[in-house]
Amino acid sequence: MSQGLVTMSYIAATILFILSLGGLSNQETARRGNYFGMAGMAIAIIATVFSDSVNSYVILIMALLIGGFIGTKAALKVEMTQMPELVAIMHSLVGMAAVLVGYANFMDASLTLTGVEKTIHEVEIYIGILIGAVTFSGSVIAFGKLSGRIDGKPLTLPGRHLFNLGLLIMAIWLGKVFLGQAETGGGTFPLLVMTLIAFAFGVHMVMAIGGADMPVVVSMLNSYSGWAAAATGFMLSNDLLIVTGALVGSSGAILSYIMCRAMNRHFLSVIAGGFGTGANGPAAEVTGDVIAISADETAKLLLDSKNIMIIPGYGMAVAQAQHTVNEITKLLRSQGKTVRFGIHPVAGRMPGHMNVLLAEAKVPYDIVFEMDEVNEDFPKVDVSIVIGANDIVNPSALDDPNSPIAGMPVLECWKGETTIVLKRSMASGYAGVGNPLFVLENTRMLFGDADKTLQEVLKALKM
Ligand code: NDP
Repeated sequence: MSQGLVTMSYIAATILFILSLGGLSNQETARRGNYFGMAGMAIAIIATVFSDSVNSYVILIMALLIGGFIGTKAALKVEMTQMPELVAIMHSLVGMAAVLVGYANFMDASLTLTGVEKTIHEVEIYIGILIGAVTFSGSVIAFGKLSGRIDGKPLTLPGRHLFNLGLLIMAIWLGKVFLGQAETGGGTFPLLVMTLIAFAFGVHMVMAIGGADMPVVVSMLNSYSGWAAAATGFMLSNDLLIVTGALVGSSGAILSYIMCRAMNRHFLSVIAGGFGTGANGPAAEVTGDVIAISADETAKLLLDSKNIMIIPGYGMAVAQAQHTVNEITKLLRSQGKTVRFGIHPVAGRMPGHMNVLLAEAKVPYDIVFEMDEVNEDFPKVDVSIVIGANDIVNPSALDDPNSPIAGMPVLECWKGETTIVLKRSMASGYAGVGNPLFVLENTRMLFGDADKTLQEVLKALKM
């Protein structure tokens, strides 16, 4: 394929990626956005495969087949609840790719750059490996935390900020040493040491993040993976990779910022870690009696109410209850009741998790609201149904300064007349904190798997 055609294909792919991102910003256009993304990626792969820079089709086809096979298998096998982990581990692959491309470039004897161009290329290699290594190890730890293989509690080493600062200073100093040695054909040692430091930094950074702050880390690693891809693009002189990486990097950074704002956190404080430690003293114990409710009683309460708010959380994803939720919603709306959904920005285990599930079940978009749009309305709500949510409806976030989630805005459902919480036990949520909502006078607990109990509620509603 001629260079002109490759360039044109890359421009077309870039436009499709931008359209894809635009589409993904709205639920109604998200599906179209995905198609644009797929088309862009297909064009990018075809153009790259047929470009002049490819000189061994055997290796390339083998890599495509192996990678394609593993990716297809993983995507087919993954449960919806494991999606965040899959995304995290995918980010780690982007990071590792940047590290490997960096080393391959460093060892490539066929490159005959000199002077400033050589130095710029070495800086690209150094930065690419640095970002790639942090992304890789950070994403592996995020994968561990999201899948429950690693404890979600923040690891707060004494003097951790100084430790991080020390690592940063060493990485900068090693960069200087590397550039000096690379002039004369050396530099392997400082590059290797820096890679180890970057791995350690990634591990430490994510280990230090508390449970409820994980969403920010997930989107931040998404952003890092974009910058790692952009760095790879610089090393390979591939414009499309640079542009795509920058798109992912900047959109991930914007998402991290939005998540931080939603959680009332400062971005730098989250990165520095240590939230969720209850630094000022122990969080208040939750004491009091729980009032249980049956599915029949729940149905009766719903039939007697006019204004209903549904608050889905991670448990709805685990129970795969979204279809039953939709059936109940349809039935209640057909009886003239106002049914709305209140979505917390960090509900579930990945940004937009609940919206994806509700869209899958075909819940109408115009009754799905963001937290800020409905939080003031709770005093007028007759019944709130909390489906497998916990941290995002925890009042201690607002009134217990020692709570690990203190300061995080939550859906204030307890201000409504009655709250019904659907969950299997009294277990805590992702952040590992007790929830005083469960023992409030106007809260009723409907214990059991959310889909099973909702099926019973649906049956009772139909009687
Ligand atoms: P939580 O993790 O706080 O609570 C989920 C609740 O669902 C649990 O208490 C559990 O209780 C219940 N549950 C689990 N399975 C079922 C089931 N089959 N049927 C009924 N209930 C079930 O979830 P939230 O959505 O309230 O909050 C999200 C949390 O995850 C926040 O702390 C957030 O910071 C964090 N997080 C979010 C990410 C994101 O990007 N959105 C990423 C990473 C972390 P029980 O076991 O008793 O049933």
